[in-house]
Amino acid sequence: KTERKPKPKWLRVKLPTGKKYTELRNLVDKYDLHTICTSGSCPNMGECWSEGTATFMILGNICTRSCGFCGVKTGRPETVDWDEPEKVARSIKLMKIKHAVVTSVDRDDLKDMGSIIWAETVKAIRRMNPDTTLETLIPDFQGNETNIDRIVEVMPEVVSHNMETVRRLTREVRIQAKYERSLAVLKYLKDSGIKRTKSGIMLGLGEQEEEVIQTLHDLKEAGVDVVTIGQYLQPSKKHLPVKQFVTPDQFKKYEEIGLDLGFRHVESSALVRSSYKAQKHIN
Ligand code: SF4
Ligand code: SF4
Repeated sequence: KTERKPKPKWLRVKLPTGKKYTELRNLVDKYDLHTICTSGSCPNMGECWSEGTATFMILGNICTRSCGFCGVKTGRPETVDWDEPEKVARSIKLMKIKHAVVTSVDRDDLKDMGSIIWAETVKAIRRMNPDTTLETLIPDFQGNETNIDRIVEVMPEVVSHNMETVRRLTREVRIQAKYERSLAVLKYLKDSGIKRTKSGIMLGLGEQEEEVIQTLHDLKEAGVDVVTIGQYLQPSKKHLPVKQFVTPDQFKKYEEIGLDLGFRHVESSALVRSSYKAQKHIN
């Protein structure tokens, strides 16, 4: 039997507090709003919410893929809810969100892979919240350009797609995804005129330092502007184990390497999640 490693002290977080946090928490409970921040019990809720940033998940909460690190349920997804774009837009208005991150499960079961709902959601948010800026954290759409173009057409301020891990571990960590395909999606977004592209990786899955550095080079090559690097934490015993807790110094080192490579922003520390400090990435 493998013992779970105890968490080092830099991963312990304080419970979120503050007036803005309490207000939002009450709204979310009252109107049953769906944010990743609450469903994933994100450690950064206090900080993000007080800055007016939250992450919303669309296209249901059952995914057609089964990545080894991810806490989202896998299975046959629900039918598409065509009112979802309006619902998300209304949640953003109620919560007075200044910068919204939208993400989705992967819908490999749908012909358009969910890209139509994606575009409609961005449009509905813009209509109802003209001052809110947006980041769309998209799936790979299996690299299908027609689907990616639907995102490009609605021009979110930031478009992100996460590599999640280094090349060697991609098969184990994201079984239905491909390292090269994800890079190609990021490159296509940049070449299509998206102002800020962004990607994230998790550490602690068994990667070596030189593999992380290679991934940073690959992302730079694909024209990516912003990189997030955080510690992987195992959502349950059924998920991939944590191989190592990366030290704050090592995170700092990757941040410096990333900045030297010329990325606009590099967020690199244990509690960084892909939407952490997302608002500043529009600049
Ligand atoms: Fe929400 Fe993302 Fe911030 Fe976590 S990091 S609280 S999921 S916006
Ligand atoms: Fe989780 Fe995304 Fe993988 Fe689905 S595709 S299992 S939501 S990481």
